[in-house]
Amino acid sequence: MINNGHLLLIFQRLQAIHADWMLENTHNNGEANMIKQTSVFQGDITQLQVDAIVNAAKNSLLGGGGVDGAIHRAAGPELLAECRQLNGCATGEAKITKGYQLRAKWVIHTVGPIWYGGNQGEDEMLAKCYRNSLAVAEQYQIKSIAFPAISTGVYGFPMERASKIAITEVNKFLHSHQSIEQVIFVCFGQSAYDCYLKVIRELT
Ligand code: ADP
Repeated sequence: MINNGHLLLIFQRLQAIHADWMLENTHNNGEANMIKQTSVFQGDITQLQVDAIVNAAKNSLLGGGGVDGAIHRAAGPELLAECRQLNGCATGEAKITKGYQLRAKWVIHTVGPIWYGGNQGEDEMLAKCYRNSLAVAEQYQIKSIAFPAISTGVYGFPMERASKIAITEVNKFLHSHQSIEQVIFVCFGQSAYDCYLKVIRELT
């Protein structure tokens, strides 16, 4: 018998749409240039089998709604127990924990800026979230990482402006660092997905 949970899962799988593009890494230190893959995925970040997923967390790191709540529910209570040991996280910074019941081995928690209209340093703070999350990933030899659209939910950052920052920062990092091989931008819903594809077409 198929219950509602299974139907929902099947529906989410059907909705999971991929768009891939390849980035040629121009950072060539004597070896052949490496091809790195960047993708846009529509669906639930907690279902992804990658080395690390990024959490759009709160300063307390003690859980919340949105993607933060989904990650804590899927990872189980041990995630909250580890987060309690971290003494919070400043906006723009990133801290790492294990993934517990998630398919991802690691969770990188970063705190995005609240949108106050765009003149309060929100852009630079959001860029820092991506840079610092990728720097932590590199320290842990993480090869594949998935990002949600940080700050675009409850924190109110406009999706198009946020996605430009996300894509630009990831591309810059991949061009100047060797270790990370796959980055997935996870969009929760069709409009976010369409927005990412539009911005990618404009930027690349
Ligand atoms: P913030 O407080 O940083 O705005 P939110 O969790 O409210 O964080 O939203 C960030 C983004 O994550 C939003 O675009 C939201 O639609 C998306 N989101 C919510 N749940 C999930 C999920 N399970 N997987 C991926 N993205 C999600």
